Amino acid sequence: MIITKKKDPADILKSIERTGAKKIHLFGCNTCAEQCKTGGTPELKETSKILVANGYTVTGTSLIDETCYNQIVRREFRQNTAIAEADAILVLSCGAGVKTVTDNASTNQPVLPALDSLFLASVERVGRFFQGCSLCGNCVLEYTAGICPHTDCPKSLLNGPCGGVDSGKCEVFPDNDCAWVRIYNKLKEQGRLELIKETMPAKDHSITQHPAKVTLR
Ligand code: SF4
Ligand code: SF4
Repeated sequence: MIITKKKDPADILKSIERTGAKKIHLFGCNTCAEQCKTGGTPELKETSKILVANGYTVTGTSLIDETCYNQIVRREFRQNTAIAEADAILVLSCGAGVKTVTDNASTNQPVLPALDSLFLASVERVGRFFQGCSLCGNCVLEYTAGICPHTDCPKSLLNGPCGGVDSGKCEVFPDNDCAWVRIYNKLKEQGRLELIKETMPAKDHSITQHPAKVTLR
């Protein structure tokens, strides 16, 4: 799941003002942003209210199942005539959703983000998310008992702890257990402690060059 947070309404209003638009259409996302409480029905209503209170006309709202999914967004553009009436489109989704809406909007329809995209999360329960992977492109979890040293260690150390670990706690975030202490303990529990002796090469950042593209045949 992609975690997003709401932009400050004052910043959103400023971004709309810069376009000169008066009529705005809103897109939400019924998957990640809905669960983050940043782009579902209540947030579309709340944002519409703010726009109307500031003198804008809201032509309509589109709550898309996956706003990053081009075919679904394209269908919404075909079926929802209110979109064409808008001077600009405000998107309450992650950046991938904003990009997908942009790809479908007319060239004279600026598309603006209402959210900031933060990270890829695992979901503990509704409303509680934590970052488990930073998409490094070269997964090493088989050596680290499923605990990501790239993500869970603030320094992304791949070959054991730094000198700052204190009584098992992380020096950067003292409330957290050191990722490498957790990795050690879990490998030990699993009887796989020999894996800790593996030396992991530095990450190849060329793998994560962007823009990335995958085409499955
Ligand atoms: S090593 Fe960590 S950041 Fe890289 S792919 Fe695996 S879980 Fe994600
Ligand atoms: S104490 Fe552990 S988790 Fe924190 S920065 Fe050092 S190695 Fe990483």
